[in-house]
Amino acid sequence: MPGRVLVVDDVLPNIKLLEAKLMSEYFDVRTATNGPDALEIIQSDTPDIVLLDVMMPGIDGFEVCKRIRSNPATAHLPVVMVTALSDPSDRVRGLEAGADDFLTKPVDDTALFARVRSLLRLKVMVDEWLLREQTSAHFGVLDAAGSGLTVDFRAGRVLLIEDNPIDAANTQNILSRDENVVFVCAGAEQARQIAVENDIELIVCSLNLEGEDALRLLSQFRTTEKTRQIPVLMTGEVDQIDKLSKALDLGANDYIMKPLDKNELAARSRTQIRRRRFQDLLRESYERSLSMALIDSLTGLYNRRYLETYLKGLMDNAVERRKPLALLMLDIDHFKIVNDTHGHLFGDKVLKAVAEALINSLRSVDMIARIGGEEFVVVMPDTTEEFGEAVAERLRRRVSETSVPIGETGDPVSVNISIGLTMRTGGDKTVEDLMKRADKALYGAKNAGRNRVVSDIPVSD
Ligand code: GH3
Ligand code: MG
Ligand code: MG
Repeated sequence: MPGRVLVVDDVLPNIKLLEAKLMSEYFDVRTATNGPDALEIIQSDTPDIVLLDVMMPGIDGFEVCKRIRSNPATAHLPVVMVTALSDPSDRVRGLEAGADDFLTKPVDDTALFARVRSLLRLKVMVDEWLLREQTSAHFGVLDAAGSGLTVDFRAGRVLLIEDNPIDAANTQNILSRDENVVFVCAGAEQARQIAVENDIELIVCSLNLEGEDALRLLSQFRTTEKTRQIPVLMTGEVDQIDKLSKALDLGANDYIMKPLDKNELAARSRTQIRRRRFQDLLRESYERSLSMALIDSLTGLYNRRYLETYLKGLMDNAVERRKPLALLMLDIDHFKIVNDTHGHLFGDKVLKAVAEALINSLRSVDMIARIGGEEFVVVMPDTTEEFGEAVAERLRRRVSETSVPIGETGDPVSVNISIGLTMRTGGDKTVEDLMKRADKALYGAKNAGRNRVVSDIPVSD
């Protein structure tokens, strides 16, 4: 999955070297020799990933990274810091500036490609969620979540798989500092069980488990539905870079070398927990926007779109087709007068009160939707004509008994509804056929003086 990589370094030979390596793996490479140029390229021609030198004259890498993160349009862009510095405090500074990773010069090829690929995979996924979020035109949660960097990272639920008791105690100690709840275990079987049962947000797993294959365990996490999305941070020895790269290819999200630097572990685990929570936010917001597309926001009832899909399902289903089905169309009487007299806001209050009265008078198997301004439809599956008429009459009465006070102490205003009732027949081919007949019945109720139920039931069947 080649992608577009921007290489930023003030030393030309360094750029040439990385460029050659990346191009040999078919990446599309752009280059910049200073911070401002890099930021401009990122703005105009967003790359998929940035390899960023730390020490540059003018704006240094830390600052460039911070600026990438603080711009909502680029906040999700993966950034890898590349530097000659190997001081752990610089790594931490980079991670805290928002870098996703750190590579030390001279750059090891295996580490480079594994890291780049793993970050690109993640980016594809986050981009996908962002796209859905934007298509659903619902930005509320995204604004609140910002770039994901503002998402809280504390009190995570972490599973630590480590069979060396000293390493386990040490790692647990570091992880506990962010108020994390740490589950510690030494073997694969226990690890799988804890991961499935405890809503884990991060797995920290040692590559070297006595008598177990940590990479196999990792692939099991990745193929099990319940653990697939949990970030995994591998720990290994300095001479195990090949195995660690393999882990990234198998779906691990990051790795860290032993002996663990406490700040680096803290920074890397925070990043993973934040990402995980950010993804959850995106998913929730997406699901909410899906339900918003089906629900009327004023009354909380289903909308016309849902009604049509639901009815079509009932009409297509052979079993349901054999059962009697009653459909009511309801419309508030002289609602325009209520609005004109007391204002639109009060009208909304009346609509809500009517919706509530209707809901409270129906069975849970009945479906009710608000399909227009002051029009509602009730669908009653497995309901005979007699029962349907009784329910319609009950709804009419309940609404007429409902009143809405004007202000705190004002006189209550009450409204009535007219109802058209029909039954589905074998001749009904589409939802439209059924709705038209109910509408005709409703028209009849209005003409006959309102505040009543009129049925239109075809004789043939
Ligand atoms: P009828 O008895 O014949 O149904 O008379 P009506 O006044 O209820 O019917 P009409 O269709 O003439 O007017 C419907 C009114 O419903 C017009 C509009 O002001 C009001 N309305 C439609 N949607 C909303 C809404 O969401 N909120 C409020 N407050 N009023 C709405
Ligand atoms: Mg009306
Ligand atoms: Mg109307």
